[in-house]
Amino acid sequence: MLRIDGSYGEGGGQILRTSLSLSVLAAQAIEIFNIRAKRKKPGLQAQHLVAVKAAEEISQAKVSGAKIGSKILRFEPKKIKFGRFEFDIGTAGSTTLVAQTILLPLSFSKHPSEVLIVGGTHNPLAPPFHYFSEVFLPMIEKLGIKAEAKLEKYGFYPKGGGRIRLFVQPIQKLVASDFLERGKIEEISGLSVVANLPFSIAERQKNALQSFLKNFSGINILAERVEALSAGTFVFLKVKFENILAGFSSLGEKGKPAEKVGQEVAQQFSDYYQSEKVIDPYLADQIVLYLAISKKPFAFTVSKITNHLLTHIWLLEKFLDIKIKIDKEKNKIFKE
Ligand code: ATP
Repeated sequence: MLRIDGSYGEGGGQILRTSLSLSVLAAQAIEIFNIRAKRKKPGLQAQHLVAVKAAEEISQAKVSGAKIGSKILRFEPKKIKFGRFEFDIGTAGSTTLVAQTILLPLSFSKHPSEVLIVGGTHNPLAPPFHYFSEVFLPMIEKLGIKAEAKLEKYGFYPKGGGRIRLFVQPIQKLVASDFLERGKIEEISGLSVVANLPFSIAERQKNALQSFLKNFSGINILAERVEALSAGTFVFLKVKFENILAGFSSLGEKGKPAEKVGQEVAQQFSDYYQSEKVIDPYLADQIVLYLAISKKPFAFTVSKITNHLLTHIWLLEKFLDIKIKIDKEKNKIFKE
């Protein structure tokens, strides 16, 4: 049984989710202790518990410690299943993080799967649905993953109730790749959304972002009103370069001016763009899992080396018995 210290580095939910993905993929029994030790409310919370349940269901695993607040989990998976699954987080916990837990193992199942996940679709500190479907999935498609996602209903904090549907096709293998050149910008598109709030907020968010982007041509940002149980707003910007995609987003909250939401997205894009590096900071910690699986050489540069990325690298080295190198001067992550 592989033992994993959930308090290492970032000490958050990602250690748990990636451990579950890799455990199911390799039919490797694991024990995770100190789960989410560095978070305000440590242990398994609703979203993490559903991630455990989802991993358990797709692998017929024997599990102990799967309850709210638990800081230790034992997980012994069997064979990977496929088919139709439904998982309801029951809170506004992030649906995309649950999707990320099971996407990798389901990809290596024998037949396609369809998964409905109910909860939050646009959460702080998690990939918003649009980032997941329009940046993360197309980027890992370059490595061999065949999956799509549909947003059936938006879900904001506190009520959640959002619905995403994930379609996964079986694959035989993943390939590694280099991401060392962005290439030219081909398209910049975005979305400014409000639910249960005045439409003018979506327009103000959009205008704040657009005024920052006036030096770029061919930009298409849509302001939209959507249905959801709770009030919420968000802005998403997708930048398509010749070789890669990058995404930036921000959520509105009570007391935060609409202009600030747009400006935050602009600032994230600006920091990334000026760095001249290739992978955006969020994608880096998410894609490194898929790059590492084949154990073949890969390399990418990233605009910022985050604690999430360093923690993920530590975990991958533990599971896959590989060495991933970090060149802090060039912001380059690579495996020889
Ligand atoms: P916690 O333990 O606090 O519940 P968590 O379950 O939210 O943590 P983390 O370990 O903090 O999980 O991982 C969050 C993941 O969400 C990381 O992969 C990070 O890259 C991703 N993420 C956070 N914000 C964004 C964003 N704005 N866009 C894309 N991805 C994001």
